Amino acid sequence: STAPVGALRRRRVGVMGGTFDPIHNGHLVAANEVADRFDLDEVIFVPTGRPWQKLSDEQGVRQGGSTVVPVVSPAEDRYLMTVIATAANPRFSVSRVDIERQGDTYTVDTLRDLSRLHPDSDLYFITGADALSSILTWHDWEELFALARFVGVSRPGYELGAAHLGTHLETLSPDALHLIEVPALAISSTDCRDRAAQGRPVWYLVPDGVVQYINKRRLYRVPRPESRGVS
Ligand code: ATP
Ligand code: MG
Repeated sequence: STAPVGALRRRRVGVMGGTFDPIHNGHLVAANEVADRFDLDEVIFVPTGRPWQKLSDEQGVRQGGSTVVPVVSPAEDRYLMTVIATAANPRFSVSRVDIERQGDTYTVDTLRDLSRLHPDSDLYFITGADALSSILTWHDWEELFALARFVGVSRPGYELGAAHLGTHLETLSPDALHLIEVPALAISSTDCRDRAAQGRPVWYLVPDGVVQYINKRRLYRVPRPESRGVS
């Protein structure tokens, strides 16, 4: 007898890493678009532990008197907002692997952990095109491409060519890296935080439950100093 067609196809799992401070509709649209285009069975959102590109929780910055302004919200708040934002979608889930690992978060560790947890799946690492170039520049890209395929999402009009990604691209298989455009979404977490700090609305930029969580926990009430490095 022949195996059912479904058995021939490996499970496809998207991995969407981010600071998610807060998660916003740009993240959700990007993840959903990639899931549709690559026929993914699941997308796992992975809030970072300590994003090495941004100042970490412990490195709060003193402003004015003695108020310590944390530059990244507590991991538990970012995790819960991500759970709230994704809970209604049966194909979306949230992983704690980065939150629970000690030290700074590196994409290669995220992918090692998730490939161990999902040995029967092909992983698709979803990232903004801006972040993609720094990930592939700073890390061991050979191991990264052995662990996952990469999908860089950009907005229409955002130029992303091989020049942004260094010179090693020619050596990759055509399946290793895909660049796709998602519908224009100028939403960023930075803008959402600035709005919350100024008492301006974040409704419709983030899911309703996330608006309510931000208010309940009084997140982003104090303006933050500029975060250093890439965003
Ligand atoms: P910040 O403004 O604090 O840098 P952010 O909006 O860039 O936050 P992150 O949590 O840093 O959000 O991003 C997680 C991932 O989502 C990154 O790969 C980023 O490039 C991507 N991303 C962020 N905003 C969008 C958007 N509007 N559309 C598509 N992808 C996005
Ligand atoms: Mg960013």
